[in-house]
Amino acid sequence: IWIEKASMAKSNGRRVILFPLPLQGCINPMIQLAKILHSKGFSITVIHTRFNAPKASRHPLFTFLQIPDGLSEAETRTSDVTLRLALLNRRCEPAFRDCLTKLLRSADSETEEEKQRISCLIDDSGWIFTQPLAQSLNLPRLVLNTYKVSFFRNHFVLPQLRRERYLQLQDSEQDDPVEEFPPLRKKDLLRLLNEERKVLDSYSIMILETTKASSGLIFLSCEELDQDSLSQARQDFQVPIFAIGPSHTRFPGSSSSLLSPDETCIPWLDKQEDKSVIYVSFGSIATISETELMEIAWGLRNSDQPFLWVVRVGSVNGTKWIETIPEELMERLNENGKIVKWAPQQDVLKHRAVGGFLTHNGWNSTVESVCEGVPMICLPFFWDQMLNARFVSEIWMVGLHLEYRIERNEIERAIRRLLLETEGEAIRERMELLKEKVGRSVKENGLAFRSLENLVDHISSF
Ligand code: UDP
Repeated sequence: IWIEKASMAKSNGRRVILFPLPLQGCINPMIQLAKILHSKGFSITVIHTRFNAPKASRHPLFTFLQIPDGLSEAETRTSDVTLRLALLNRRCEPAFRDCLTKLLRSADSETEEEKQRISCLIDDSGWIFTQPLAQSLNLPRLVLNTYKVSFFRNHFVLPQLRRERYLQLQDSEQDDPVEEFPPLRKKDLLRLLNEERKVLDSYSIMILETTKASSGLIFLSCEELDQDSLSQARQDFQVPIFAIGPSHTRFPGSSSSLLSPDETCIPWLDKQEDKSVIYVSFGSIATISETELMEIAWGLRNSDQPFLWVVRVGSVNGTKWIETIPEELMERLNENGKIVKWAPQQDVLKHRAVGGFLTHNGWNSTVESVCEGVPMICLPFFWDQMLNARFVSEIWMVGLHLEYRIERNEIERAIRRLLLETEGEAIRERMELLKEKVGRSVKENGLAFRSLENLVDHISSF
């Protein structure tokens, strides 16, 4: 469908260069943005690292250019995402500079008819060397940020909070709000600050500076999900801000998936009753312990509800996959559940049989769930997930929060509350309303729709 639509778009003779961070949660939105801009007539070049390279063959209408990233085998396997980002930022710069300079030069030297002017570079806020480079080449740079707006604008306060306090907490203070970073609670913040992300403190100062120096900031959120933060962000950054809404709503499908989705999920869901299935997935990075795997397995089994559970290969520390689940329990799990290594998540959430999502609350997963009206059970692991989970459970009230208790009874109870009890019905009704609000925003003349039009105008003005 996409190829048909896209090929109908008339080229406007302009090219946009995209440079995603090599993480699943950053590649998906960047490729979605590429599809959107292509449908508006822009040609697309994606520069990407060798590590986690997007699958070029799935996007025949885009040009893909791979640059060496300098990561060793061991560094590509590290579970320390922060370290990997720091290394990538240090090591990609020369190759990226070369690639970009060549592109600009060849665009200039083409004959007048063939000439495709390069409008701008759009890259992830996590690349910190691209702003000074783009500036030195006179190329406007737009920043794509894949967090919720309220997380992005407030997370710059973390270094200060780390310095000041919050390393010790009394039990009685656990649930107190963090005034500097609403709606986080102190126990969320404590986890955030304990993430050994000290190295990120100097990195986040660079992100702030390079974002402020950019030609604009794009969020995959909308006024309906981030109203106050968006107006505050406009003051903080003093650059044009575009909240174009959840991008996958415009071009559905998971063509940018780095892992192959298990296509047997959908026929399995077809056999289940409406809104009966709990879908379980913790995204592309989070890992769990063997004990946690067992607690989740028992929680699902004891809930007596059908479930579709994604366990990524390598996501259970110290084991390959699910081989540590005893055979007897495995047999019982197979009675009403299905465990896969990777799912076509957007299609799963769209399926009529799915009634709830036990999620780590990555921003992509959170908005995908909102867009399909699927209520959530929140089990955030780190970073922005904690804030997203508070929004889901306490501000929008479209989900339940496990409060970090990965225990069989808690999981069983939450599933039953969400899928079987009146409390769950009320949550589902609120989710339906939120879904409609966000849905209206991305439709013609909605706020996100108009923001996208403004973004296209902005890019065309360079
Ligand atoms: N995803 C998927 N199949 C899975 C699990 C996740 O396609 O089995 C996709 C999901 O739809 C989302 C992305 O991977 O677009 C995960 O991004 P998110 O921001 O939720 O979490 P992260 O992986 O960055 O922690």
